Amino acid sequence: MSTESTWRNAPDTLGRTAPNQSVQYPDATPIDEIFGVDCFGLQEMKKRIPAEQFRSLLMTIERGEPMSDKELADSIAKAMRQWAIEKGATHYTHWFHPLTGSTAEKHDSLYKLNSEKAFIPHLSASALMQGEPDASSFPSGGLRQTFEARGYTAWDATSPAFIMRGDNSATLCIPTAFVSWTGEALDKKTPLLRSMDAISKQALRVLKFFGKDEGVHNVYSTMGCEQEYFLIDKRFLSSRPDLMLCGRTLFGSKPAKGQELSDHYFGAVPPRILEFMADSEQDLYRVGVPVQTRHNEVAPGQYEIAPLFEHANVASDHQMVLMEILKRSAERHGLHAIYHEKPFAGVNGSGKHTNWSLSTDSGLNLLDPEDSPHTNPQFLVFLCAVIRAVHLHGDLLRSSIASAGNDHRLGAHEAPPAIISIFLGDMLTDLLDQIEAGEMTRTLSGGTLDLGATQLPKLPRDSGDRNRTSPFAFTGNKFEYRAVGSTMTAAWPLTVMNTIVAESLDDILNDIEKVVGAGATPEARDAAVMGVLKDVVGKHKAIIFNGDGYSQEWQEEAARRGLPNIKKSSDAIPVMREQKNLDLFARFGVLQNAEVHSRANTYMEKYVTQLSIEAATMLQIARQQILPAAYEHQRNLAETAASSEGIGSDILGLRDEFTQYAELADRFRNGAAKLEEQLDSIPDDEYKAGEYFRDTLIGTMEDLREIGDLLETKTPSKIWPLPSYQDMLFIK
Ligand code: ADP
Ligand code: MG
Repeated sequence: MSTESTWRNAPDTLGRTAPNQSVQYPDATPIDEIFGVDCFGLQEMKKRIPAEQFRSLLMTIERGEPMSDKELADSIAKAMRQWAIEKGATHYTHWFHPLTGSTAEKHDSLYKLNSEKAFIPHLSASALMQGEPDASSFPSGGLRQTFEARGYTAWDATSPAFIMRGDNSATLCIPTAFVSWTGEALDKKTPLLRSMDAISKQALRVLKFFGKDEGVHNVYSTMGCEQEYFLIDKRFLSSRPDLMLCGRTLFGSKPAKGQELSDHYFGAVPPRILEFMADSEQDLYRVGVPVQTRHNEVAPGQYEIAPLFEHANVASDHQMVLMEILKRSAERHGLHAIYHEKPFAGVNGSGKHTNWSLSTDSGLNLLDPEDSPHTNPQFLVFLCAVIRAVHLHGDLLRSSIASAGNDHRLGAHEAPPAIISIFLGDMLTDLLDQIEAGEMTRTLSGGTLDLGATQLPKLPRDSGDRNRTSPFAFTGNKFEYRAVGSTMTAAWPLTVMNTIVAESLDDILNDIEKVVGAGATPEARDAAVMGVLKDVVGKHKAIIFNGDGYSQEWQEEAARRGLPNIKKSSDAIPVMREQKNLDLFARFGVLQNAEVHSRANTYMEKYVTQLSIEAATMLQIARQQILPAAYEHQRNLAETAASSEGIGSDILGLRDEFTQYAELADRFRNGAAKLEEQLDSIPDDEYKAGEYFRDTLIGTMEDLREIGDLLETKTPSKIWPLPSYQDMLFIK
């Protein structure tokens, strides 16, 4: 057993667990000194529990071995409690990810009364390992009724506990999974962990097949998310009911200047924003989120932050913490952070590019082509498995990123289209051509770039360009799933990714093993591999598209190739319930049928509820704010016209203006009446309601917005009741 080397390589103060050379974490010491650590990572545990127990804990964290030892749980609970109290925490919470898409917590005191009526610190092993929040109001999509409210939270030892601080509070947050009394997953973490197990098992099989499994005990999915978001001055929020209730503007005409000059993208970060960023980053480092990049995004008022990648489960937890911490930090700086996929019409929306790869615990990135991938059949198996998986399950991937917000983004000529395809670039595409031709002879290289000025260095060039129009792009040594929406937890799309790739690895390997047995020579083995991959490439290359995903031609070409193009989430969500998908999740132990149904029901209900809230908010703004303002201006125009009567021929123009304005206001009034009428007829069944929105209400809302935005351009700004786009996007 190589416990010793695992022990030496693993710990660091930020709680990272993989002794993975390809993973580079910020040097823990300076961060520790500068910001302090509010994260109960391995380093902290190592200091506080006996060495033997720590080794046993690493087995659980790194190899997924069950934590059987009650004494170990006792030690960790005691250590965690002491640490938290030293840090000033007064409460702890089992922190989990219900299907709502946000995080949940119910705080308990870290102290209890003893027999002498004195408060003593308290966190028992059982309280650490298991919680039982009532939590009956969380959506379960029919998995349980409120009278069957029991749900359990179970400690996830692989994700470090951390302390969330408020102005006068400090709470120990213990990452947990959330399941029902009958053991069904009610959260996003449980299936993610199961999918990580599933893909690890298949990837290990592949490594074993190629005799590359020595010293490898686990294969992790790795994830790094690029989070885009908007910031507006907080004072505008209370005057924008749409932003407050829906997270996006339902009305708002385009300002004279938007993003046309591309002067915001990668521009110098405005000082106030930089202050906010630096502050947030300190808080993030402190709780163990290894943030790395920050920059201005394309739209005015839009920014991005990306942490270093980590094990997918930890990265997913950190992603949720990141969103919370940015939000809180924005408040402190008088700003309001907006995560919606399309908060402002006419400028870019926000995504959460989800970078994904597979890494062994010995540090090998399995999607890294290295120097000569044409001689590396193992890499080609992983590559072809991803291609096959995405081709077979493009519809399920589309389903995994379905939401009311993301519908505005996909296919809106700024974000990837709703058609799922893969961008591979020249080098990998050439490899596939060679696989099909049955002869592997070359790896294209990018060569060097001579800049033509002797002062400047010659640059090594990547073997392929980037493609920002692709929903799913190979970017050097990982795939970037770009279609994920900015509000989403990346956990569910990643669960789907892991599961479909596990399936393809399994199927491909089964096919290979039908051709060669265990004792085959390397030549015979590689020949069998290439034979099977040739078949895979032939059947699935239709998913590869290296061209412009925004173009109309691609829509037509994709249809010819038979690739699904599911534009609305009301059609994408039900895909989960198809038999082939129920079977897929069950086959890999990721979700049982009832769990899939519960998710589909929950997501559909959320979709419909969000749209209903938007429609109701729109009506409220129309009736209570826009129409009164429009009537006021209409009256002003009428009075001005009347008082100017007899002055001269100019009056005709004024009368025209009045008539046109009054007509527009009337069209707006009628539009609002139509919306109200349609709002009354939303079907009760969430799937029918989804179709109703798709076919009826969404169009009515779009029409009303168009008239409203036109009215705004013709109404004096001092009367217009809502802060303008110009104010919100440009005042910093
Ligand atoms: P870009 O905008 O150029 O795509 P960024 O630097 O903004 O790149 O973000 C890239 C993200 O991909 C980062 O979060 C990074 O840590 C992550 N990443 C890099 N390598 C891997 C990997 N092997 N697995 C998962 N994520 C990765
Ligand atoms: Mg980026």
